[in-house]
Amino acid sequence: MRVTWKGGELSFRLDPEDEITGTVSDGYPVKLAVNSCEIRGIPSDAHNDLWAVAAWTVVAPWTRRRITFDRPVSHELAAALHDGWGVEAGPVGGPPRTPGPTLAISYSGGADSVAAAAVFPEAPFVHFRRVPHSRVPNRWPHYRSDVLAKLAARTGRDVTTVESDLEFTLAEPRPGYPEHHAVMVGALLHADRLGLGGVGLGYEIGSRWLGGGRYLHRFTPDNPMWAPHGMWGRLFAAAGLRIVLPVGGVSEAMTMKIALNSPLKAQVRWCLRGTSGPCRTCGKCLYKELIQAAVERRPMDTPITADRPVARKWQEPPPYGGQEMIEYGCARVPGIERTPFARAAGYLKATEESTSWLDRCYRPAIEEIPEPWRERAERFMAENVGFMDEAQATRVETWGGVG
Ligand SMILES: [Zn+2]
Repeated sequence: MRVTWKGGELSFRLDPEDEITGTVSDGYPVKLAVNSCEIRGIPSDAHNDLWAVAAWTVVAPWTRRRITFDRPVSHELAAALHDGWGVEAGPVGGPPRTPGPTLAISYSGGADSVAAAAVFPEAPFVHFRRVPHSRVPNRWPHYRSDVLAKLAARTGRDVTTVESDLEFTLAEPRPGYPEHHAVMVGALLHADRLGLGGVGLGYEIGSRWLGGGRYLHRFTPDNPMWAPHGMWGRLFAAAGLRIVLPVGGVSEAMTMKIALNSPLKAQVRWCLRGTSGPCRTCGKCLYKELIQAAVERRPMDTPITADRPVARKWQEPPPYGGQEMIEYGCARVPGIERTPFARAAGYLKATEESTSWLDRCYRPAIEEIPEPWRERAERFMAENVGFMDEAQATRVETWGGVG
C-alpha cells in the first residue's frame, strides 16, 4: 500500500498483494469502493506519525504486507505497525511525537459519548462529520450529520468539527469507518494544535469487554481495538496519543443514566435520522428506548411493533449483539410482554438480580486508563456509579460462557 497526502486529501494505491475485500480489526469483511478521501479543515503541520496513523485508520483493512508513507515515520511507529499487523512500514526517520498534556473527547453526541464527556467536563471535543464523496453516489441521504454537528456546537465546549467523506471508501456492507479508529482522524491531525496526549471515546463495557455489537459474544480482555496493550492501543501510544475509555467499565444503562443527568442532556442524540428529535422508528431508536425505559423504570414508548423489520431480530433466539442490555431491559421494563422484546424476554429469562452487575463499574476498566486521567475517572465512577464486587466482576469475566 502506498499513501499520499495532498493537503487533506488522502489517496492510496494498492500493492499487488493487497486485496479490495479486506478485514476490519474486529474480523468483519469490508469491500473497497474508492481509493481516495478528504479530511477538511485540518492544519498542515501535524507530526509525521499523526499523518501516518490517520492514513492507517483508512487503509489498514486492505493492506497485507507493507505500507509506504509519503513522509518518514518514527522508528517507534514503524515498530508498532510491525508488531501489531506484521506490516513493514517506511520510510523510517525522525523523532517520535512528544505527547501533549490535554485529553480531547471524540464526540458523537450519542449517550455513550456524552457520558464520556461528563467524566471530563473541561475536555475539548473533536467531532467527526460525514460529508458526501465527490466520486461516490450518496445512497444514505437520511443520515443527518448536519443535525449532529449543530448539536455538538451547542454543547458550550471547545468543539473542533472535522468534515470527511472517508466513510465512502467502503462499498460494502455500507458507508462507514474502514476501521473504527477512523472516527479519530480529526483528533489525530489536530493533536499538535490542541496539545493532545489522549483521546477519549464513549465505548462502554459491551464494546470493550463483552465482545458486543458485531463482534464475538465473549469476554475480551485482549480486545484488539480497545485494549491499551492491543495493536491499536500501542499504535496510538507510539504517536503520543493514548486511547482513553472513560466509560469502558459501565454498561449502556449507566452511560444513558450519566448522559441524561449531565449538563449536555439537551444535546444527547443517538438517532442518525431525525431532524428535530429522534425518528423513533429505526432500530437504534428501538434499542435505546428499551434501555431508557429500563433506566427510568417505565413502560416502553414506541410505535414499533414486533412484526416490523427493525424488530425482527428480537423475535429470534439469542445470542444478540448487545445482549447484556437486552437482558437488562427485559428484566426491568414494566409490561415487556406487550413490546417487540416479548419473545426475547421469554428466551433470556433475565431478572433484576441476574443483571444487577450492569449497574456497577468494572474496576479493571479504570485501571487501564493511563495517567494523568485515571484518578478523575475513578472518582467519577465512585461517586456516580459504584464498583462491582467480586461476584459481579466474575459475571463480566465469564460472559459468553467462557470461564
Ligand atoms: Zn431513529
